[in-house]
Amino acid sequence: MRGSQDKRCDGREVHRFPMFTGHTVLQALPSLQWVSKDTMARRADQMDKLRSLVEGLRLRPELVPAPLWGISAFKNLRRNAAWAAIRDSELQKAGNRCSVCGIAVPQLICHERWDYDDAKGTATLIGFQIHCSPCDSVTHIGLAYKLGRVETAVAQLCSVNGIPPKGAALVCQYAMTEWKRRSKKPWILKVQAQILKRYPLLAELVGLKGDPRRVSQLKYEKRTKRPG
Ligand SMILES: [Zn+2]
Repeated sequence: MRGSQDKRCDGREVHRFPMFTGHTVLQALPSLQWVSKDTMARRADQMDKLRSLVEGLRLRPELVPAPLWGISAFKNLRRNAAWAAIRDSELQKAGNRCSVCGIAVPQLICHERWDYDDAKGTATLIGFQIHCSPCDSVTHIGLAYKLGRVETAVAQLCSVNGIPPKGAALVCQYAMTEWKRRSKKPWILKVQAQILKRYPLLAELVGLKGDPRRVSQLKYEKRTKRPG
């Protein structure tokens, strides 16, 4: 799959790709080492070690399963003042700094933290975290790729966690493997009791179900061949 280049009105070139996949991240960063999906799948013990390593990172991709795209606290509450109130409260708690790297910049993002219970098929909103743009691009690295910001995201992933580019490639590949697995299942939303007590309007999210039609729209299986 190849991307295209468009010219923006300010003359800058923007890379556009129709769909983000794990291997397109690696294609974008050809210096990184490829670890085959089959190798990862066969070596369950290595996957367990990788899982604990990735989950222990300060900052990592947090890819939303495809059936849940379009559902979030931001998307569901932004039409009224509820989202603005949540964002203001979280900004104040974070001291108007990125909660990951500590930078103080005017444009800060209120990131939603979701916990996925694979056995129960539940996605639970467990809190919020204030992010600067580079840190947020790591958590949404698929979107970063679409927007031509993947190299910035990977640089931030390396910098914040103190890992080399090869390690970042492995982290991205792990995230994609997990995303593909989770994108094939139905999900139902929950909100952690503590968060719901703090922000009662989040009750609107409880019980919402992902759209399973999203799964059939994805054709990622055809795009996961090892780069030649
Ligand atoms: Zn940051």
